[in-house]
Amino acid sequence: DKPENNCIVIFGASGDLTHRKLIPAFYHLYANGQLPEEFAILGVSRTAFSDLAFREKLKQTLMTTEEVDEQTLEAFCQHLHYQALNTAAAEDYALLKERLDRIGKQCHTNGNTTFYLATPPSLYSVIPENLAAYGLNDESNGWKRLIVEKPFGYDLASAQALDQQLHRYFQEHQIYRIDHYLGKETVQNLLVFRFANGMFEPLWNRNFIDYVEITAAEFLGVEERGGYYDGAGAVRDMFQNHLLQVLAMVGMEPPAAINADSMRDEVVKVMNSFQPLSDQDLQQNLVLGQYTESDVRGEHLPGYRDEQGVASESRTETYVGLKMFIDNWRWSGVPFYVRTGKRLPTRVTEVVIHFKKTPHPVFSANAPANKLIIRIQPDEGILMSFGLKKPGAGFEAKDVSMDFHYESLEETHMLTAYERLLLDSMNGDATLFARTDAVKACWKFVQPILDYKEDPKHLYGYAAGTWGPKEADALLAGDNREWRFPCKNLTNTDY
Ligand code: NAP
Repeated sequence: DKPENNCIVIFGASGDLTHRKLIPAFYHLYANGQLPEEFAILGVSRTAFSDLAFREKLKQTLMTTEEVDEQTLEAFCQHLHYQALNTAAAEDYALLKERLDRIGKQCHTNGNTTFYLATPPSLYSVIPENLAAYGLNDESNGWKRLIVEKPFGYDLASAQALDQQLHRYFQEHQIYRIDHYLGKETVQNLLVFRFANGMFEPLWNRNFIDYVEITAAEFLGVEERGGYYDGAGAVRDMFQNHLLQVLAMVGMEPPAAINADSMRDEVVKVMNSFQPLSDQDLQQNLVLGQYTESDVRGEHLPGYRDEQGVASESRTETYVGLKMFIDNWRWSGVPFYVRTGKRLPTRVTEVVIHFKKTPHPVFSANAPANKLIIRIQPDEGILMSFGLKKPGAGFEAKDVSMDFHYESLEETHMLTAYERLLLDSMNGDATLFARTDAVKACWKFVQPILDYKEDPKHLYGYAAGTWGPKEADALLAGDNREWRFPCKNLTNTDY
């Protein structure tokens, strides 16, 4: 079903996120007939535009970055509007309210409104406050929702302060915190794969699983986002949110039902079972790294400290590797090795479930153990590897695989993460949005890492284009294991 008629107000309409992600997502939803009959997108930022100039600007962006149909694009742009506003100036919200009233009447939105915060996070508390001052949080005439972009705070204390501030003006059911990883088809598939197949779930525990690896590697460096990244680092940018969310989906118990409450109850439960990191864990099980200059496949790549916007003495980590545990009945004693970094050899995100070897290796002592590789990006799919008889004399086992690729599913157009999440928010479905207690649980878990990383002696260098500091290999080598070498293509070995 299509969502009800509604209006989306985007704060930060002249910014990068709006142009690169939000408007393209809305365009594709529109082109696929998934938006309501009547809807309006009202862009808000300080820069002055007329409606016409705003439409023209976005039209140009869409024509250069997306495959568009000219007629559809023209029709889509008629739904775009613009209001110049300084978020910090309370009186500007009177204009916003007036504009919304007019648009609401024109588009029969019945007051249904979503406010999307795509501004610098420093404005995340002042916008809700000013919206509330003009009654724009009041649900007595139509729903009012607030979509918040990451980062949800900078550490545990600031995340709690932000939540308190948001909750003064909006109730939890009105708040949608976007973690675009949860919008990815393959991340959601983790749940379907686990809970729709009788075959895997009985094995999904400490009795059969030896260890789990989660890798989120990027080949790119910080590009134009050096200034932002230098204040954040890999722990805040990737680990605290995306990786721990993926880990929760691998580790959670089956939800009672697929709805926002049941799902998120289970996610929080497993997050609250992450074994807290002791000082010894920080010393022995955590590796932080920063990339240095290097030549990779004929290209010279600068070191992190030479990137634009990065301090020349920066101690910000661009790599984090951690061995961690989940303290519960299912996972007791099973290590989860989690790593993410920039300027690694290739762009890949995958989860690898390593099953235990057979108790008695009759065919050969080093027969490979079974593995399940769940590829989240780029070539979304699943690969199962197992041993079969090597042809010829004797009974030697050989590693072979069976694989499934999303691209081979013909029937559906895959929604991008933003398309899926925007549509869900319009439908009032918060299942794939981070709930306040989950955000808090993740910050609580990473806070010791944030404290530890303040001490500069804990940062290792790694050459751009390699798999991180060698100390990260030692994390697994100490347990007689190795990181899987994630090739670019799920089924072949070169990258
Ligand atoms: P950006 O390009 O710097 O855009 C910021 C926007 O906020 C601009 O439209 C700016 O417009 C507006 N703004 C700034 N101060 C304002 C004020 N006082 N009143 C009204 N509008 C104001 O940032 P971005 O990259 O789009 O990111 C936006 C948010 O999304 C950030 O919180 C970021 O962390 C998050 N995010 C971004 C990405 C991404 O890929 N870009 C990914 C994940 C999360 P004016 O200068 O015209 O006012």
